[in-house]
Amino acid sequence: MEARYLTSVYNAADLPRDRKVEIAVAGKSNVGKSSLLNRLVKRRGLAKTSQTPGKTRCLNYFVVEPDKSASFYLVDLPGYGYAKVSQTMRKDWAGLIEAYLNEPDRPAGLIALFDARREPTSVDEDWLAWLGLWGRPFLVVLTKSDKVSGNARAQAIRRWTLAGPAGAIAPVTASALTGEGTDKIWQWMDGVRRRRPG
Ligand code: GDP
Repeated sequence: MEARYLTSVYNAADLPRDRKVEIAVAGKSNVGKSSLLNRLVKRRGLAKTSQTPGKTRCLNYFVVEPDKSASFYLVDLPGYGYAKVSQTMRKDWAGLIEAYLNEPDRPAGLIALFDARREPTSVDEDWLAWLGLWGRPFLVVLTKSDKVSGNARAQAIRRWTLAGPAGAIAPVTASALTGEGTDKIWQWMDGVRRRRPG
């Protein structure tokens, strides 16, 4: 497996034009996105953990090559719902994500991350509904699953299934610490990539 940081995109005009398959990963800051991305591609420190909100107003592109024959982009979407950013920054951010999702075939699949310990808020539900509107294959991943035990885990899956788009596949519980869920996420990503060879 090879994985490397490619670029950060601040304007839709600068999106890569090579039509490689893209899988986008979205989540609020501190949800464990960087840790999970690093775990998925087995590269410590590929995605930087605990970035400040100001630094996450861009799309971060990573090239991932699971084997020599194929590569794809993992795209780290900026987080949502933070109090610290100004209105102007929030508008820029929404504009960029919307321009990105408006592109034909981009991304081939969307992963939305939520903390397994948290209940869905109305902001989360709105965000999920909005992401679902784009009609792309969709996966909800519940992070930091090492922090929730059997029963709480089942409850979290139920809650987030209800909060997500109708007909979406069941949320996957995942942990960057134990590696739980990474196989399932890879299976899902492989399925998305097979639909559109890169
Ligand atoms: P990001 O802001 O979404 O990129 O989140 P980070 O990956 O920087 O993680 C935020 C905090 O959560 C850090 O203190 C991590 O050590 C912690 N964290 C991330 N993933 C896990 C996990 O799977 N389990 C546990 N217990 N903590 C995690």
